[in-house]
Amino acid sequence: MSANIDINKDLCIGCGKCMFMCPRRILFLNQNTNKCEVSEQSKCDKLRGCERVCPTKAIRIL
Ligand code: SF4
Ligand code: SF4
Repeated sequence: MSANIDINKDLCIGCGKCMFMCPRRILFLNQNTNKCEVSEQSKCDKLRGCERVCPTKAIRIL
């Protein structure tokens, strides 16, 4: 079963910390909105590294 990576775009400040943390490289910055987005949910390891580093608690693994 793949993870559900939930990104609250109102909270995301586009800092990129989750993207550097992510070992699967499935998080990226949308250059138009300056918000984090997910490419392939199914590749997520569900270890929540992104959650731990996000300064605004914008990203959650459900
Ligand atoms: S839980 Fe891990 S693999 Fe999944 S998006 Fe976050 S950092 Fe990437
Ligand atoms: S760490 Fe949080 S605030 Fe920074 S880009 Fe990722 S989701 Fe957005």
